Amino acid sequence: MSEAIMEVTTATPATAVEIPANIEAQKLARKKAEKIALENNKLHKRLCRLVGQAIGDFNMIEEGDKVMVCLSGGKDSYALLDILMTLRERAPIHFDIVVVNLDQKQPNFPPEILPAYLTELGVAFHIENQDTYSIVKRLIPEGKTTCSLCSRLRRGILYRVADELGATKIALGHHRDDILETFFLNMFFGGKLKGMPAKLVSDDGKHMVIRPMAYVKEEDTERYAEVKGFPIIPCDLCGSQENLQRKQIKAMMRDWDKKFPGRVESIFSAMSNVAPSHLMDGKLFGFTDLKADGLANPMGDIAFDEEPCSTPTTFGATIPLQAV
Ligand code: SF4
Repeated sequence: MSEAIMEVTTATPATAVEIPANIEAQKLARKKAEKIALENNKLHKRLCRLVGQAIGDFNMIEEGDKVMVCLSGGKDSYALLDILMTLRERAPIHFDIVVVNLDQKQPNFPPEILPAYLTELGVAFHIENQDTYSIVKRLIPEGKTTCSLCSRLRRGILYRVADELGATKIALGHHRDDILETFFLNMFFGGKLKGMPAKLVSDDGKHMVIRPMAYVKEEDTERYAEVKGFPIIPCDLCGSQENLQRKQIKAMMRDWDKKFPGRVESIFSAMSNVAPSHLMDGKLFGFTDLKADGLANPMGDIAFDEEPCSTPTTFGATIPLQAV
């Protein structure tokens, strides 16, 4: 047998093996792509459902509203805008959206990104240029935290812009985890049982501020931003460190989520299920005037018993005393 013929005969089986392997790899890749597309579609539907639900529960948007969406360039505000635009297409009511970005003149802020993105999207927008960065740097001594003055200045500017644009609602991108973090911060460090409301009247009494992402997990906005490829602008351009206490609370919640699934959800549900008579705030419940009126109340307090959280509540099904 010549050398040439030998080469051909050894090469043929190798090619024959490669073809099916390629097909198999292609099939696997297609399946993987289909699975990812399905997951992404589910994520989009979930975000629409949760945002729609929050809007409905708190009556956030009404017929004829002009919603000013505050877009910082972070993942959450991009997600808010994207989902609100989808919901506007489907809503039985008419409302307008105008996007506002406040360019605070932070070092290295890329001013071209948002106008390009919003023009491409075809949504009405306004970029407000105000150098709050210099003001904050001038007034706050080096090393001191700048956030409180910075956000006060930002708030004032956004209220003024809302007036100028005739906006009836100001929409912010805070999500469920922001609300919970604020709740824990207030409780751990401020001695208050107070979160971040889904809807509130602004401190100047003139504007309605809404948080349509109130039911959305941060994990979902992170993934949605990846899926959609939003042109994210980093949030640390001002050079301020992220609040250490907030960072710790975020880590605590992520840890709970891993170790005790459902705990964070349960705490969030508790925020909509408050019993002032079972707390200690005399401004919310008239403890001092409380009187026994002699009327039985099946929902009333059971005084000395443990709350039957996870044990059966029907008398017949409770554990016999002698077994305890
Ligand atoms: S992190 Fe920077 S931009 Fe944000 S509120 Fe604080 S100082 Fe302002």
